[in-house]
Formats: sequence, C-alpha cells, structure tokens
Amino acid sequence: MKFKFNLKSNSEKSGKTMESSSIQSHLPWRRIVLKVGSALIAPDKNGCSSRYLLGIAEFIIKCRMHGTQVVLVSSGSVAAGSQAFNTEKERSIAVKKAMAAKGQMDMMASWDRLFDFPTAQLLLTQGDLQIHDRYTSIRETAFELLNNDILPIVNENDAVTSDDLKVGDNDNLSAMIAAAVDADCLIICSDVNGLYTDNPNVNKDAELLKEVHKIDESIFAMASGPDSSVGTGGMKTKLEAAEKATSNGILTFIVNGLKTESFNYLFDGKNPGTKFLPFDKPLEDHIHWITHTSKAKGEVIVNNEIGEIVDGDSLSFDHKDIVNVVGEFSIGDTILVRTEKGKKLAKATSQHSSCMLNLMASEEIDQSVIDSEDDNPIISEKSLAILENK
Ligand code: GLU
Repeated sequence: MKFKFNLKSNSEKSGKTMESSSIQSHLPWRRIVLKVGSALIAPDKNGCSSRYLLGIAEFIIKCRMHGTQVVLVSSGSVAAGSQAFNTEKERSIAVKKAMAAKGQMDMMASWDRLFDFPTAQLLLTQGDLQIHDRYTSIRETAFELLNNDILPIVNENDAVTSDDLKVGDNDNLSAMIAAAVDADCLIICSDVNGLYTDNPNVNKDAELLKEVHKIDESIFAMASGPDSSVGTGGMKTKLEAAEKATSNGILTFIVNGLKTESFNYLFDGKNPGTKFLPFDKPLEDHIHWITHTSKAKGEVIVNNEIGEIVDGDSLSFDHKDIVNVVGEFSIGDTILVRTEKGKKLAKATSQHSSCMLNLMASEEIDQSVIDSEDDNPIISEKSLAILENK
C-alpha cells in the first residue's frame, strides 16, 4: 500500500516561493536533524508500521516546504528485519547483523513510500566518523543530497559493524550527524514527553523539565533509574546526544514522537517537550569533533598532580609526568589523557606514537628527542579538548 501526501515538496521548484509563503510557521531553523527510533518504526516488533510515521512524515514535508532542510536519522533496521528470522534462540551478533541487513531495506522502503520527493540512504559506522577525511566526505555527500532536495536518511551500518567500530545508539549518532551537517536544531523523538525529574513510569510526582540550560551531573542523574530506558539507549543516550549537540551550538529537543501534536507544536514554534539550550560559546569544530566524535585509540596516564593544575583551556605536561601509555597509537591519532586516579583530563591528537611515548617516558631514547620536546610537545594546544567534570 502506498501512502503519499498530496502536499508538494520543495523538490518541485516551480511555485516554491508561493508554497513557502502559504504555509504559516514559526520555524526559525535553516537545517534540522530529526531522530526517529525503532519503537516508532516497528512498534509491534513485527516489521515496519506507518502508525507513527505519518505524522512525522507530514512534519518533514511541511519543514521542507517552509524552506527548512531536514536530515532524518532513522533506527529500526534490526526491529524491522527480525520477523524474517527464527528468533526463538538467543540472538547472536551475526543474527542481529543479518536482521539489520534485511530490515534496513524495509525501513527505507517504509519512509520512501511516504514522500513524493527522493530519499537517499546514508549508512555509516563510528569508523567513518572517526577518520577526519571520511568525516569530511560524509559532509560533502550530505550537502550534495540537501542541495538537490533529496532527503538523507541516516542509520548506523549495523550489518558490518563490530563493537569497537560502533557508535552503538542512534541518539549519539544523530548528534554527530547534526554537527557534521551544520544543523541548527536537533529533534530527538522519544516515547515519553521529554526529560522528567524522575522516571515518570515509576514516580507519579515526576515533573517534565521544559528547559535545560546546562547538562550536568544532576541532569544525568534524572535519567539514571533502571527503568528509565526506552529503546536502545533510553534517556541517558538522549542526554549524551543533547550534550554533544548543544556544545556545538545546536538547539536540541526531546519530544514525544508517538504524538502528532508534538510536531504541530514544533511547527508552530512551541516547545512540546524538553528544550536544551545551546552553549553561548560553542566549541570550535575540530575540538568538538575530538571531544564528541573521535574515539581515543589509546591513553596517556599522567601523575595525579597534573590533574590539579589543569586549567580552563590548557593542559601541559612533559615526558617526566607520564606514568604509563596504554594501547597502540600513531602520530595523529586521538588519545585520552588521564591521571593515575582515573580523572579524565583531555582528549587530543597525539604528536608522537605510543611506542615513542613509551621510550620518552622511560628516557630510553636519545637526549636530542627529549630536548626537542619544547618545539614538539606531546600534544598541541590546537588539538586539545579539555574534558570538564568527567
Ligand atoms: N541502528 C539500530 C537499528 O537501526 C538502532 C540503534 C538505536 O536504536 O539507537 O536497528
């Protein structure tokens, strides 16, 4: 069965201005990323359903007609593909990957049926976001699709990922994508109305927070109850995503995707759920990528005193402060710098390989290398991302 809305999309260039002006909206955004989870795609865990997608698709169409570009991050490949498998037995990773391969097609077809403009599939892994050249390549593809009025539909490439290459949940993936496509708004659909002071399914007195200015430990504590998770990541990964996005200057909403009113509210410029305000001073792009997207390939463990003197935007230490080097990494890889006690101080691009740092730390190396440390420090200020409260 085909569902097609009769509204004309902005791919139909003729009359675009007229259409735009005939739609009354208060949408102030140039480009939004909308994240839709498996519970909305396959609510009965029995293949895809259009039950919740119709309202979401209508919102996407209206945004585009109004001139706001949309990138959709859609989960659901595993949930949509599971019905084709005998799932009586415990699902192995291989079975889940195969389900994703099957379900991704169904999920894409489900979305595509709802639109009268072209959609495109963008499948990626943590590995693609990790390597800066590939990250840039993803950006280029996304912009080309948007410039041609094609709706990019993004998912993690679950059929090929192994655990160390996985983002793992599409909440965090959506925030990485929002940063990659220079979005100004991220909308994460949940099956609750937003962030509550406590788990609303358990505590009747839990209150919905309408606006969050700073995502700190007290905010994360609200999502930490064992029953608070919904879908793959639950509220915790939604907050991680909100933290990633807001630190990049991207306004973020968590809204109830089960209710069509949520999207009507958004379209009318109202807040239907919890709104997370962007940082006043967003992180510079490269520092944001190191902090939130690039995974550390190894760790440099420094003595505890360095943890006491880390200050604002700077961290300095030399080979004498290194207590241990963990993992194998090359020049240019992202590393985590932490103290012996485990306090995470910073992520940065290493200017030395792990092998060289081991030799420097044990001073089993030519003195001239040690002497050149001032000119070639272990990490450069330009690639230093200080981690707060971690
Ligand atoms: N990528 C997964 C899927 O399509 C979903 C991950 C998530 O639910 O966050 O099934």
